Amino acid sequence: MNQAFENKTHKPSSSLAKAWENVCAKLQAEFGEDSFKSWFKILNVVDFEGNKVTLSAPNRFTRDWILTHYAKRILALWQNEFSELMHLDISVIPHSASVLASRPTESSTPVSPFIAETASNNGSDADKENLGANLDPRFTFDNFVVGKTNELAHAAARRVAESSTVPFNPLFLYGGVGLGKTHLMHAIAWHIRLHQPERRVIYLSAEKFMYQFIRALRFKDTMAFKEQFRSVDVLMIDDVQFISGKDSTQEEFFHTFNALVDQNKQLIISADKSPSDLEGIEERMKSRLGWGLVADIHPTTYELRLGILQAKADQLNVQIPQKVLEFLAHKITSNIRELEGALNRIVAHATLVGRDISIDSAQDVLRDLLRANDRRTTIEEIQKKVSEHYQIRVSDMHSPKRVRSVARPRQVAMYLSKLLTTKSLPEIGRKFGGRDHTTVLHAISKVEELIQSDSSFSEDIDLLRRMLEN
Ligand code: ADP
Ligand code: MG
Repeated sequence: MNQAFENKTHKPSSSLAKAWENVCAKLQAEFGEDSFKSWFKILNVVDFEGNKVTLSAPNRFTRDWILTHYAKRILALWQNEFSELMHLDISVIPHSASVLASRPTESSTPVSPFIAETASNNGSDADKENLGANLDPRFTFDNFVVGKTNELAHAAARRVAESSTVPFNPLFLYGGVGLGKTHLMHAIAWHIRLHQPERRVIYLSAEKFMYQFIRALRFKDTMAFKEQFRSVDVLMIDDVQFISGKDSTQEEFFHTFNALVDQNKQLIISADKSPSDLEGIEERMKSRLGWGLVADIHPTTYELRLGILQAKADQLNVQIPQKVLEFLAHKITSNIRELEGALNRIVAHATLVGRDISIDSAQDVLRDLLRANDRRTTIEEIQKKVSEHYQIRVSDMHSPKRVRSVARPRQVAMYLSKLLTTKSLPEIGRKFGGRDHTTVLHAISKVEELIQSDSSFSEDIDLLRRMLEN
């Protein structure tokens, strides 16, 4: 980390450097290597005056993100070093020449109209085809549901789409299959197409990139291959993990990549893994891919799945009982693509046979999908699902606490464990903080009694059972 201390610094720079090192070590331990690289490693200490420390971030997006997500923590860690410290400030100072020598900074002028015009005049039909033809009209920002797991990727994508300059290069999006990488890339393309039509955008799968390159090699026409990327303003390559291993394509990709970055063209890359975890990709390439902003999309949460289902049901303009949506959000956890598929099937089926949509009909229609998403139910899973449902901590399943708000869900989980697993009463008792088998027996009869007397309780149990059942 290179410190750029100014004269007015009151602390000696050696003690600041040491303090910053300590802060960084803690940040790295707390947030992990990837986050550390994306957010903290790129900060520098600029100034420490009175009770205020000022850091620098390479661009506004990073600064804003850090201020909203990490500022408190960073300040607290600084306070461990200097207890008189009260404020943390972050200013935007684009990376120094030592890092990105030939790259214009954020404050550089937007794409010149001259280049844009030349580009669109030169754009062949084939190029135009690249934009539009393979963009899915449903993949827009409007249709993208934001939750905790994808908020960073979404914010970064929006920033790139809305900016007329290059806020960070490349934007590297990664995450498991069916979690919205392609959706975000198309959304960027649509947005730019609508609001800055003069900018040329190319979206390509890595496979297509490879295919075109190999074809160019065969026809000894690599010049034309390179040429087509020259006039582009924004290049997106999806699923870059597919480039791994193919040495000459990788080489070409690396050159194209470098050339475009040097010309301050925006690159957006997606992959199923972080740059450092990509296999079969050269080290220098990995390191270069991680230069800009690396944003990961995590596996979905129940809330996001439910939000997406509600949004899709609205789009389809069909009434689907909330219980059915909840059931699907609980059951289909693999990815968003499957979740959508499930919803479409239920709706199609209901329309065809003219029957109301219910949990029963959903289970019927989705039997194969549900089975694929199922594993054998374990007591741990039951405890987890029941805790989620009643919004208590899983640890409460083992705790000695006896308040009703915790004891009742625990009894429900014991009941379901008896119902859905082959475990004996003593075995179940052991899994619930070493309780006696008579406690489990008591729980079961209590739950059975409530199922008889309380219809909404009974519905809850029914829902939980279906969610957990094989
Ligand atoms: P990936 O490229 O990561 O494999 P996709 O972008 O193809 O995943 O997404 C799979 C499906 O899920 C698409 O139909 C997409 O529209 C949908 N999808 C993914 N994330 C979201 C989201 N946050 N909101 C709405 N739909 C989403
Ligand atoms: Mg994809």
